[in-house]
Amino acid sequence: MPGLFNDIIDHMIGAFTFDLGRYLIAAGALSFILWAFGKWSEARRIQSRQAGFADYKREFLSSMRTVVVFGLTTISTVLLEASGWITVMTGEIIWPLFVVQLLAMIVAHDAYFYWMHRWLHTKTMFRFSHLHHHKSRTPTPWAAYSFSSFEAMTEAAFVPIYVFAASILFDGMYPFAIFLFLAHMIVRNVMGHAGVELFPAGWTRNKFVGWITTTTHHDLHHSQGNSNFGLYFTWWDRMMGTEHSDYEARFDAVAKPIQLSVGAAANISIAAFSLLAVVTTANLI
Ligand SMILES: [Zn+2]
Ligand SMILES: [Zn+2]
Repeated sequence: MPGLFNDIIDHMIGAFTFDLGRYLIAAGALSFILWAFGKWSEARRIQSRQAGFADYKREFLSSMRTVVVFGLTTISTVLLEASGWITVMTGEIIWPLFVVQLLAMIVAHDAYFYWMHRWLHTKTMFRFSHLHHHKSRTPTPWAAYSFSSFEAMTEAAFVPIYVFAASILFDGMYPFAIFLFLAHMIVRNVMGHAGVELFPAGWTRNKFVGWITTTTHHDLHHSQGNSNFGLYFTWWDRMMGTEHSDYEARFDAVAKPIQLSVGAAANISIAAFSLLAVVTTANLI
């Protein structure tokens, strides 16, 4: 029992540190990029309303609460692992299996998020828990974890539930696949709350990538409410008829073709790549 207790404390401290680090690095790095390319950001700002100091303060403080809730939720993962319900795969990574695990977890999370989000938008649940996230009418990258305690718990519950299911379907999960899933999650999450369209012109109409959600997609959810419930992909909103009717037009209005010198374009690519690399590395240390 003392061993299990120590395990729980260790995992909680670990999860707390990773979640806090991931949030601060991803939201901080994106805020820095938007500031560093200020002219470009202003030209692509989605709403005319600007977030105020009170918005930043609320988003940051409630994200700190979410980090604590995420840390507490990790107890369930430790208990499930200790009782043999969850299997973490050790040993040499089989890369094709690794890729399947990572992609399957992202696709499953997109489905989980869509339906959980629809549920949170029912009248009772909205007032009880989701209203807090929607106080950010004009979101900033710091809104990524701006949840009520209950919503933070339902968001965090996906990982133990999924890893439990994967322990049955895949004989367990590679920890590195879970780390990369979490890195992708926070990067897409801060991008969705950027307030500035980050995707290139023509994205939504491109048949190869148009199904990947843009910043305008989630921004419309914050400014107008009852549409665009999806997280990473447009699939569920399109299937269920919940995509905002003006989504593509609104995207086109802000996603102006990038007219940058080769040097500036290279700087943006390096900055975006660095963001992903830093977040990934933060997951590993
Ligand atoms: Zn919502
Ligand atoms: Zn949001």
